[in-house]
Amino acid sequence: MKPLSDESAEVSDLAGRTHGPVLTPGAVGYDEERTGYQLLSAHRPALVVGALDAHDVRAAVEFAVATGAKIAVQASGHGLGEALDGGVLISTRRMNEVTVDPAAATASVEAGATWQQVIDAAAPYGLAPLSGSSTGVGAVSYTLGGGVGLLARRHGFAADHVRRIDLVTADGQLRHVTADSDPDLFWALRGGGGNFGVVTGMEIGLLPLSTIYGGGLYFDVERVPGVLEAWCGWTRTVPEEMTSAVTVLPFPDLPMMPEALRGRHVAQIQIAYAGGAEEGERLVRPLRELGSRLRDTLRELPYAESGAVFDEPDQPHGYRSANLLLGALDPDALATLPKLAGPSAPVMCVVGLRHLGGALARAPRVPNAVGHRAAEYSLSVLSPVEPGQEGMARDTHRAVLEPWAEQALGRSLNFTFGPTGEREVRDAFAPDDYSRLAEIRTKCDPGAHFHSNHAIPPIAP
Ligand SMILES: Cc1cc2nc3c(=O)[nH]c(=O)nc-3n(C[C@H](O)[C@H](O)[C@H](O)COP(=O)(O)OP(=O)(O)OC[C@H]3O[C@@H](n4cnc5c(N)ncnc54)[C@H](O)[C@@H]3O)c2cc1C
Repeated sequence: MKPLSDESAEVSDLAGRTHGPVLTPGAVGYDEERTGYQLLSAHRPALVVGALDAHDVRAAVEFAVATGAKIAVQASGHGLGEALDGGVLISTRRMNEVTVDPAAATASVEAGATWQQVIDAAAPYGLAPLSGSSTGVGAVSYTLGGGVGLLARRHGFAADHVRRIDLVTADGQLRHVTADSDPDLFWALRGGGGNFGVVTGMEIGLLPLSTIYGGGLYFDVERVPGVLEAWCGWTRTVPEEMTSAVTVLPFPDLPMMPEALRGRHVAQIQIAYAGGAEEGERLVRPLRELGSRLRDTLRELPYAESGAVFDEPDQPHGYRSANLLLGALDPDALATLPKLAGPSAPVMCVVGLRHLGGALARAPRVPNAVGHRAAEYSLSVLSPVEPGQEGMARDTHRAVLEPWAEQALGRSLNFTFGPTGEREVRDAFAPDDYSRLAEIRTKCDPGAHFHSNHAIPPIAP
């Protein structure tokens, strides 16, 4: 794509046709627009369209296809993969309207809305979406990638609850895709990621839920060894209403860290129980009895405060991760984690185990492309990374996951942060499903215009 400037005729023409700003490098606001939550890299587009509506998305897609440019999309930037060099970036963060239909228990969610915005719109009606650990994440991309949330074991993937997806395909058409209007594309979009076009909005089902029993139990792993093994055994005893996870991470000895956790290696068990507080208390008793807690935040929680369950950082930073979806948790492999991912690891490792199964394992009413429903657990290893440390993080993550190879069914793309190769993307799907996704991509985007964070390339002619 040839260099463009704010004064060029093509850019002026596009700017005249869009409601939102059109920015080229050097323009005021360009850097802010392309920068998201992931700070290790950022798209470097020839042009950014700060879309206000579906009309702007269409104009941007038509412009890119006419000029042979690649198209990237960014909402919050939590899931940035390979940064786009040149081409057109469509920034959707202004498109964050959420409309709730309380009678139908559905929400229409624009492309740039975060989960917190959806939660806040639904809460006054006693309704809740299938959101995840961090409420700052973009609802649309999370859902396109499947979406494993706080209520996942009881209600399945977020993608299982989608009613309609509106998207602009490479031919510039705005399509309203439902199970009836285009079964193939509807199947692909729910799990197959941002490979098929630019989603402008979606309609999702909501759950009648105002509160959960949830929060975190924080243990010092040196003083209470065996937390992981105990959590693992406990997960085999709980009902589907209980979705839980455990994260093991070192808290630096720094004044901005919570005093109780500062300088300690901590196992943080995250609990989200879709039921009453009394029964929740009873279910978690064996975990509380493991030993003294550095912190215990379990309580009846308004769903609007559900971000407190994982209490993840909301400050943008650089990070990389890798993960596996597992059929079981092997005790021998579990025993390797303290050595490979503990304080002596070459880079700081945040190890996350999530309990899956339950409704996640059941096929949804309208089939979709989400892979590896048989997985019982996910294991991810994430590191905060500065520029230049990517190789060290990659090698460390490979070493941490290596002992689990035999139980691995595949991987989850939503929990893969950083550039992904074709092999990694294939691993997220059953082989036949991957082939079907590639065929659908070929129909929607034969010229491979869309630069998705987890690319499923069109089939070469
Ligand atoms: C702290 C944290 C917590 C998380 N917790 C969970 C969790 O609990 N469960 C879970 O399943 N996932 C979780 N994720 C993963 C998250 O769902 C994905 O990274 C998701 O892609 C983030 O979407 P975004 O809009 O926030 O990010 P962005 O970086 O803005 O988008 C990611 C990619 O999605 C595509 N995309 C975005 N918008 C569109 C669109 N409108 N049309 C087409 N393609 C689009 C693009 O390829 C883009 O590069 C978490 C991630 C982080 C960083």
